[in-house]
Amino acid sequence: MRKIFFAILLLQVCIAHAQTLQSPDQFLGYKVGTEFTKHFKIVDYFKAVAAAKPDMVKVEKYGETYEGRDLMLAYIALPENLQKLDAIRLNNLRMAGVNKDKMAPVTDGAPAIVWLSYNVHGNEPASSEAAMKVLYALVDPNNKETKEWLKNVVVIIDPCINPDGRDRYVNWYNNAAGATYNPNPSAREHQEPWPQGRTNHYNFDLNRDWAWQTQIETQQRLKKYNEWLPEVHVDYHEQGYNAPYYFAPAAEPYHEVITKWQRDFQTQIGKNNAKYFDTNGWLYFTKEVFDLLYPSYGDTYPTYNGSIGMTYEQGGIGAGLGVRTNDGDTLTLVDRATHHYTTSMSTIEISAKNAARLVTEFKKYFDDNRNAIGSDYKTYVLTAKDPNKIQAVAKLLDANGIEYGNVSNTAFRGYNYFTGKEEAYSEEGYQLAISAYQPKSRMVKVLFEPKSFISDSATYDITAWAVPYSYGIKAYALKEKLDVGPFKTAAAITNVAADYGLLIPYTSMNAVKLLSNLLQQGVKVRYSEKPFTYNGKNYAQGTLIVLKGNNIQNWEQLTNDACKQFNVQADEVESGFVDKGADFGSSYIHFITAPKVALLTGRDVYSDAAGEVWSFFDNTLNYPVTQLNAENIGNTLSDFDILIMPNGSYNSLNNKEAQDKIKAFIKNGGKVIALEKGAAFIAGMDLGFKLKSNDDDSARNKDEYADLKKYADRERDVLPQSISGAIYKVELDNTHPLAFGYPDFYYTLKQDDRLFEFLKDGWNVGVLKKAGYTSGFAGSKIKPQIQDGLLFGAVESGKGSVVIITDDVLFRLFWENGKMLFSNAVFLVGQ
Ligand SMILES: [Zn+2]
Repeated sequence: MRKIFFAILLLQVCIAHAQTLQSPDQFLGYKVGTEFTKHFKIVDYFKAVAAAKPDMVKVEKYGETYEGRDLMLAYIALPENLQKLDAIRLNNLRMAGVNKDKMAPVTDGAPAIVWLSYNVHGNEPASSEAAMKVLYALVDPNNKETKEWLKNVVVIIDPCINPDGRDRYVNWYNNAAGATYNPNPSAREHQEPWPQGRTNHYNFDLNRDWAWQTQIETQQRLKKYNEWLPEVHVDYHEQGYNAPYYFAPAAEPYHEVITKWQRDFQTQIGKNNAKYFDTNGWLYFTKEVFDLLYPSYGDTYPTYNGSIGMTYEQGGIGAGLGVRTNDGDTLTLVDRATHHYTTSMSTIEISAKNAARLVTEFKKYFDDNRNAIGSDYKTYVLTAKDPNKIQAVAKLLDANGIEYGNVSNTAFRGYNYFTGKEEAYSEEGYQLAISAYQPKSRMVKVLFEPKSFISDSATYDITAWAVPYSYGIKAYALKEKLDVGPFKTAAAITNVAADYGLLIPYTSMNAVKLLSNLLQQGVKVRYSEKPFTYNGKNYAQGTLIVLKGNNIQNWEQLTNDACKQFNVQADEVESGFVDKGADFGSSYIHFITAPKVALLTGRDVYSDAAGEVWSFFDNTLNYPVTQLNAENIGNTLSDFDILIMPNGSYNSLNNKEAQDKIKAFIKNGGKVIALEKGAAFIAGMDLGFKLKSNDDDSARNKDEYADLKKYADRERDVLPQSISGAIYKVELDNTHPLAFGYPDFYYTLKQDDRLFEFLKDGWNVGVLKKAGYTSGFAGSKIKPQIQDGLLFGAVESGKGSVVIITDDVLFRLFWENGKMLFSNAVFLVGQ
């Protein structure tokens, strides 16, 4: 038996050693770029190379996508470095100061870490093809040059960040294309259908999610990323196929935390790439379009974490295997993969040649961080009545490796984000403090600075995101350094023995998740419309009430279990008689029916907007939602209580027949929740909402030559009219269920100037008056228009109701503070 075992073992060892190294062309059976490679085959190739060259390549599965595809990393190094890979990693973390083993880092001879991330956008697939070529070139024994480079660098390859999106695109393309590709741009194979392959399973753009980590692909990847903190990071993309190649240096604006070295080395890398493109006569551009500001990209996030972070863009979206371009040429996948391969090799080369400098500058970046260099504010202190609001921020900080704790000395003054003034600190009950003196200091500044740094040039994304606003949590920014001690966690939830019922405070998303859980288990839940006092304690409007009367048998156990699961402390009720306010049998106490929810999707709806709502129901509320195609809502609306209309064009509902169906749905007791342009569409349906018109003729009349604009200034001329994402303070009527759980204000992300007129027959729950502007870029002409209008409103109509929410309160699912507003629209309004 033993002999047989050893014989089998020997055989396996021999097979493993017998595996010979194959080029991607040999392994796949076709030249790279002449076919799209399915994701599993890319994974197989990486595994095969690791098996053939185990002394130089290690592959690691770091997770799975929502659809169950493998996420993987490959580490490529010379044998002497691969043997001590973990020691190299720990030394790198010691240089960054995030390793707590107190050993001194060794900078002399430490290799630079170069991390290459391919195919974050699924329908920008050329880079994963290139990744296989890069891997082979690094290990190919005949390639002496790469072995020289590997003396100075360790290369980490993520061959595909977004496998679900990639396969969605590739499978569709293979279905749409014929035996040979058709270069005619009008051919169906160049017209990808909704929701396209760009995003992950839930239509999320993973290149907007680095800091927030709302999606599992990002969560798993960023855990690995923060265990390494590479010196150089490249994120590979494609843009429209008529565009040439784009590489570093990036466009202005650069955030002010970006160091001179980070700027300079981007230029060096760009010049090295240019050398190869010049030799081949390929077109490229630099310093335009792709700026470095919003912190959640594959270039900015690494940059704010000590790396030289860059985006590279090949022309190619929609190009398939080949497409005719404007200049009459045919762009093929082979070309696109070759270009990405070229910049990959060039980046590794220039990094290897400058490895010693990269390593010392990397260490200096983090040394400066630990001395809070460049931070005006030295301490941030956040406080809340509900410990779960503090926990939500703590979770974000943990995900980004940011240290936090508590301050014991609370006799200080600081900039109060909510009032915009220097004020004495007042504690709400729970607290979290962050010191700027820490390895992630620059990241802290970027995430927390009250007024984000804005130069007056056009930017690619939103311009304000400060955590106290996006999370709706009271905070102070201090110019003084306070000692931040260990973080104190809130007391554990205790069971409540309930004779008559339970009271559940409704003050954070945890209470919403709890409600969703109870409704699905059939537990009967009510909410109080008004504040009340019971047993000497004050309860706010919105407080959830679970009573014994007419409830299901194990209601008490289920409610206690859910309170524990969602970390909400309930109070016991022994009598229906309250000290002050409405008794539990009053008509001010509303019974909550578990709603049946439909979500409009399809071509009429922006896929990212539909995805936010879909993911929110699936992964946050864990509550069922049915996706309907807006192009064909059919006659099934009567199956539902709620119809959600996310941001979209709704062209196919722009007819009487479709609108009559929606009106009948409302008349018969349905509730429509209309978001962003969905709300604008509802305004056209004569249901009481009216869009506010923005008439800027008055400004023009002042200057009779205002229309005489210079051609060369055309890009800058649009800036006064633009708002790509700024924060405004909204006044809330928190006596209405739509605003339960909130103070009488809310910070909204304004991405356009859409406002509604105040409702005459309805509830003006969220309004902008004159002084709403808080942070971010709003053009000089658009700024005065964003005032005196309605943002969140509710109208009762027939037996049903309509709720409009003008801004994206679920923005990328990181706008934590908007989630309760949306949930209130679902569970409370109209009940
Ligand atoms: Zn992209």
